[in-house]
Amino acid sequence: MKKILMLGTGGTIACVPSENGLIPALDGKTLVKMVPALDGLCQIDYKQILNLDSSNITPTHWKIIAKALALDYNNYDGFVITHGTDTMAYSAAALSWMVKGCKKPVVFTGAQLPIEAEGTDAKGNVYHAFLAATSNLQGVALVFGRFVIHGLHAKKMCSENFDGFYSINREHLATIDKHTLNWNSYEGAGTSGETFSVGTKLEEKVAVVKVTPGLPPDILNYYLDRGYKGVILESFGAGGVPNDENNWLPMVAKLIANGVRVLCATQCIYDGVNLSVYPIGTLAKKLGAESAGTLTIEAALTKLMKELGKQRNTCL
Ligand code: ASP
Repeated sequence: MKKILMLGTGGTIACVPSENGLIPALDGKTLVKMVPALDGLCQIDYKQILNLDSSNITPTHWKIIAKALALDYNNYDGFVITHGTDTMAYSAAALSWMVKGCKKPVVFTGAQLPIEAEGTDAKGNVYHAFLAATSNLQGVALVFGRFVIHGLHAKKMCSENFDGFYSINREHLATIDKHTLNWNSYEGAGTSGETFSVGTKLEEKVAVVKVTPGLPPDILNYYLDRGYKGVILESFGAGGVPNDENNWLPMVAKLIANGVRVLCATQCIYDGVNLSVYPIGTLAKKLGAESAGTLTIEAALTKLMKELGKQRNTCL
C-alpha cells in the first residue's frame, strides 16, 4: 500500500464557525476520517504545519511548506497539501519553482465549503487529491472540482463555484468524472533535473502593479525608493505600457537603470504577452523590459521571486 503524507495548512476545508466567521481548526486526521472512501486506498500520515486562512499566507509560509516536503520526500510515495483556496494558486506556483526533480505526486487541494458543511465539496476534493497522490503523477499539481491542474497553471476563477480553479494556457493534467481521474499527462510542475532538490530563498521585494487607464507612472517611484528588486506590470492585452501622454517608458527605463527587473504581464487571463506587436510593447522591450509570456500572474510573481533569490537548489 502506498504511503501518503498529508500536510495541513488550514483554509475553508478545515474551518469551523466562530463569532467572526469561519476559522480553520480541523486537523488532517479529522478531515480524512470524514472521507470513508479513503479506507484501504493508502496509508496516511498527517502533519499540521500551518493553520491559516490562506489570505494570510506569505512567502515565509511557502518556505515552511517546501521544507516540510523536503524533510519527508524520501519517506513517502506522495503528498497531499490541504490549503485555503484564496492563495492556493500562488502557493502551488511557488512550490513548483522551489522544487526540482520531483518524481512523486505533490497535490494541493482545498474546498469552497468546510468539510463539515452540508453539501460540501471538500470530501470529493480530498478523495480525488488522494487518488492523484497515489497515481503516476510526478511533481506539483492542484486538484479541485472536476480538474487536476499543473502547479504552474492554476488560477482561482470563482469565489463560490465548486469548479473554482481553471487551468490557464495548458490542458488539464486530468479531468474527473464520477470519481475517475482521466489523465492527459502525469507531468506536474518541478519535475525537471536529475535528483530531487529544493531552493527556499525567495526575494520578497517583488511587486505586481496593475496598470489602469490614466494611472500615473510615478507610482513606480514608491517601489524604487523601497528597494524593490522586481516589478511586474500587469497591463493590457498583449502587454506593454502606455507610451503617449501618460508615458510610462521613462519610469520603466529608470527602474531598469537602477537594477530592477521589469516584467510585462497582462490582465487577460488566457493566451499571454507578445511585446512585438505594438509600440507599447516594442518600446518597453527595447528598454529592457521582459515578457511574462504565457505565465499567470501567480506563476510570474513566484518565478521572479525565486530567480531574484539567487540560490541554487540543494539536494537532500
Ligand atoms: N478564505 C479561505 C482561505 O483561503 C477560502 C477558502 O479556503 O476557500 O483560506
